[in-house]
Amino acid sequence: MSAPDYKQYTCNLCGKESVVVPDFHREGGACQHCGSIVRFRALMFALSHHFYGKPVPLADFSPDRNQKAMGLSDAPHYANKLNNLFDYTNYFYHAEPFLDICNIENMAVGSYDLLISSDVYEHVSPPRHVAFVNSWHLLKPGGLMLLTVPYTMLPKTVEHFPHLNQFGIVRDQQGMLLVNQRKDQSIEVYDRLTWHGGEGSTLEMRVYAEADLLQIIADAGFKNIKVWCDDYPEFGILQAQQGGSFVISAIKDGNRMPIAVTQHDPYIDNIYPEDAEVDHFLVNRPIRITGERAKKAISQWKDEKAVHTDSLFSRIKRYLHRKFRK
Ligand SMILES: [Zn+2]
Repeated sequence: MSAPDYKQYTCNLCGKESVVVPDFHREGGACQHCGSIVRFRALMFALSHHFYGKPVPLADFSPDRNQKAMGLSDAPHYANKLNNLFDYTNYFYHAEPFLDICNIENMAVGSYDLLISSDVYEHVSPPRHVAFVNSWHLLKPGGLMLLTVPYTMLPKTVEHFPHLNQFGIVRDQQGMLLVNQRKDQSIEVYDRLTWHGGEGSTLEMRVYAEADLLQIIADAGFKNIKVWCDDYPEFGILQAQQGGSFVISAIKDGNRMPIAVTQHDPYIDNIYPEDAEVDHFLVNRPIRITGERAKKAISQWKDEKAVHTDSLFSRIKRYLHRKFRK
């Protein structure tokens, strides 16, 4: 699709006519009225196919309060509309209502018809399959997972901190550093971290490869896995040229159990070794540093446990919140 073919589109989120601007990619192409970007419109496009088997704008969805739906930090552009359509809850890692997708022990499993996770699973701590397995547990059999993560078509995933264990972020004069104490007690320090926009824990933990991602989704007990890589210019979904990071939909297979949740990474062969050369245009890899700066960061980390990304205090707060909110 090129600009001369379509100068206008109808935003499937707000229903208004908007103009095609040059920067159409998943994080661009904002609707002039509601600000929805291509990623949001592509998600709701895939959702309309699930319910209606064809492209339907959100405004034409039939409200159905029997549909129990959840979002993980969903954008307000569509979360507010889903809230009017379904029995929908938008959960957050750092705000109420809380949900850590890697720890669902206080959640009602097998109760959701729909789970939307858009650009979340690149931020969860390793091992990366846990979030997908937990998504399977939360859904009903036949329930839909709608997923986006940034991913490449490289052969392997780039896992930035494969030995992440006890870690924290420290800031010095030059910027932010990650300090990690491995299980073997050795301490490593990383520079050149990548942060994504938005509130909460937005440290990029990895850049998936599509092949790795699809294998993990399948092993987590999902079927009918579909990659929504086509354009739909009528809704302002112009993305085919971005070469990855498309919306993925998958259905919970109720007749299968997912791969076991383990502390080690069962997909270790799917990640690049730490010293492998990776395309710098596709992936910004953090670098391990040593020397004086690293030493200072380690002692700073030991001194200021308060800047832990996941402090004991916030864990307790979240636990109490779940326990007493009902
Ligand atoms: Zn719009």
